[in-house]
Parts: sequence; C-alpha cells; structure tokens
Amino acid sequence: MTEAAQKAVKETQKPETFAAKAYAAHSAAAPLAPFTLPRRSPRPQDVQIEILFCGVCHSDLHQVRNEWKDVMPTVYPCVPGHEIVGRVVKVGSAVKKFKEGDIAAVGCMVDSCRVCANCRAGEEQYCENFMTLTYNGEDKILGGVTYGGYSDSIVVEEPYVLRVSNKLDPAGTAPLLCAGITTYSPLRHWNVGKGQKVGIVGLGGLGHMGVKFAHAFGAHVVLFTTSANKTADALRLGADEVVISKNEAEMQKHAGSFNFILDAVSADHDLNAYLQLLKLDGTLTLVGAPEKPAPVYAFNFLMKRRRLAGSAIGGIRETQEMLDFCAEHGITADIELIRIPQINEAYDRLLKSDVKYRFVIDMASLKQSA
Ligand code: NAP
Ligand code: ZN
Ligand code: ZN
Repeated sequence: MTEAAQKAVKETQKPETFAAKAYAAHSAAAPLAPFTLPRRSPRPQDVQIEILFCGVCHSDLHQVRNEWKDVMPTVYPCVPGHEIVGRVVKVGSAVKKFKEGDIAAVGCMVDSCRVCANCRAGEEQYCENFMTLTYNGEDKILGGVTYGGYSDSIVVEEPYVLRVSNKLDPAGTAPLLCAGITTYSPLRHWNVGKGQKVGIVGLGGLGHMGVKFAHAFGAHVVLFTTSANKTADALRLGADEVVISKNEAEMQKHAGSFNFILDAVSADHDLNAYLQLLKLDGTLTLVGAPEKPAPVYAFNFLMKRRRLAGSAIGGIRETQEMLDFCAEHGITADIELIRIPQINEAYDRLLKSDVKYRFVIDMASLKQSA
C-alpha cells in the first residue's frame, strides 16, 4: 500500500469527535485563553469524563512557557492540566470498572505501551517506549497532540482511569493525581517511616503533600522553606520542625543527620546545601524540575556514601493505592479554588511561591466563560 493509501485508511479508522471547551496557551509568552478542541467519541474501551476539578501544577507553567524545551518542547496550542477529577458521563461497551455517574480521576498519563518490562511491572511512568502524557503528548488515536484537563471533558482508556472513593472531597482530591503521587511514590520507594528523619524542601503543591505523607508514614519530618510566613502552616500540616533554608546557622544544626530528603523546588537552588545534611548512605531525591541544571560537588557524595536520585510521578497501580490510602486516612490537598479566567493570575502567584497550597480550577466556571 502506498503511504497516501495507508494515511487514507488511518483517517477512516479515526473515531468521531465532539467539541470540548478548554483554555489554551498559543505561545510561550501568551496568556491562557478560551479554546475549543476535539475529543474522540468513546470507543468500546474508553471512559468519557465530565471534568469537575483540575489542579494547577507548576509543571503546567513550565510547559506552557516552554521552559523544558530541551527535553519536552511545547506544542502549541497547549492545554495543560493533569490533576483531573470528574464524573463519568459515558462508557464504552467493554468498560468494566466504571459506570455513568461514578467519580473518576486522571493523572499525568493516559496511555503507555503496556508490553515493556516497566509497564508490566506497573511502572508505566517509566515506559521504555515513553508514556503518553495527558497533555503535550502524542495523541496516537486522533493524531497531533494530547490536550489536558483545563477543559470540560476528557476521554481516556479504562486502564488509565482511577477510582475515587466517595469519602474524598473531589476538589481536594484533584491535586493527589500529580502532587500526591509524585511525593507518595518516592517516600514509599525509599521506605520512609518510623525512626527516620526526613526532610521536605519547598512548601508548594508537591511539598505540602510530601509533609502530609511523610508524617502519615510516621517519620520525623523537617520542612525546609524560603518563606518564613509558612512556618505555622507547615507545623499544622504535619512537620515536626521547620528550617528557614536561607539561614545558614539553622541549616548547619542539621548537618549529617537526615536519612532522606525530598526536594520539591521549582526554581534554581543549591543542592549541595541539602547533600551536606544527609547522614551515611542518605539519599536526596529530586522531584522538582527546574529549568536549569544544578552543579554538585563530588565530596558531598564521597564522604558519607550519599546518593542523589530522582523520581517521576507514579504508576497506575501505585496511584490507586495512594488514592485509597488517602480515603482511609482522610488526606486531601489544601486548596485555593479558582475560576478558570483567574488562571493567569494564579500562574503569577505560583512564581512568587504564593499558593496555599494548590490552586484547583472549578471547571463549572468554564461553562460560564466564553
Ligand atoms: P509550587 O507549588 O510552585 O511549589 C514550589 C515551591 O518551591 C515553592 O512553594 C517554594 O517553597 C519553593 N521555591 C520556589 N522558588 C524557589 C527558589 N528560588 N529557591 C528555593 N525554593 C523555591 O510547585 P509544585 O507544583 O509543587 O512543583 C514543584 C516542582 O516539581 C516543579 O518544578 C514541577 O515541575 C515539579 N514536578 C515534578 C514532578 C515529577 O514527576 N517529578 C511532578 C510534578 C511536578 P517555599 O516557599 O516553601 O520555599
Ligand atoms: Zn504535575
Ligand atoms: Zn511500556
């Protein structure tokens, strides 16, 4: 078959689409504005979700402004959003776990190859053929790019849709789909728990979930912040101690004492300052993804056999485990609910570390706007 004929066949196999309302960025410098996008009509294996709430992750801002251009260049128009909670409005004939009216959630990925070793191990976020990201990923069904949760609906294959307990508040649950799993997964992987001294760096969306989980797992939790005015909140959220990271004397008091530190900072900062706080065999794990690389001194590793690691979101099975853990322990994010026209202002505030502690968009506001 010629290439043109193959393309024609592919076109005829494409599912029907319907129009969804959304907010998109049309360039790195443009503010987000109303946009209409096509969603596929559900196929037998698909779940169609009316989005009720979508969290605002700092990754949305990095991506919209093309700050990760070397690793994940942004395709415009870009519709961000990967902390999605909504109501199931339609299911395909092969769908088993969901029915119309259920509350369901979607996180940072909507597909992966399902056959590589990492997918089979339930670590789809490390798919050897790269997961399909919820936005700015390759849309393998409709072609073009995937569009995220700053929208009134999304259609996702059943294995990538999460169940949400009706014990959980849906708005406070949305941030669990990225900020929650991204902190839960490394804390579990490095067996954080009782008898351990654990640091969380940065009290933003990720950091405040990290504090909640490390506390729930029984660790002694120290929060590092550049914002002295967040001290009382950090203690209320579960920190046992708060250190103002700009204060060198305060930092020095903790030298060589940590088992594990989780770094959730979105901008440039000195990693050496945190490596020095680790004890023998301690690990500093990065989940924050600043635009620029950070220099590290070899001696900070040599002297105490310390390690520097990273972690990306979490697999589907672990995300479900995290949601169930949250339902059991009454954990949700602390949120500021916004309407979608406020999104650009919310980005400005994120850049000033001024959010308590996650913006969540009330998607009903999309119906009323434009
Ligand atoms: P956020 O809500 O904006 O929080 C970031 C926090 O970092 C701020 O609240 C602030 O905490 C601290 N901070 C900001 N600028 C700083 C600076 N110049 N020096 C030191 N500290 C600074 O962001 P987020 O949504 O939690 O995301 C955090 C990072 O994780 C982003 O880079 C994001 O892209 C990344 N991320 C990674 C994954 C993954 O899979 N690994 C998933 C989601 C997000 P204080 O005010 O307490 O200092
Ligand atoms: Zn995120
Ligand atoms: Zn795979």
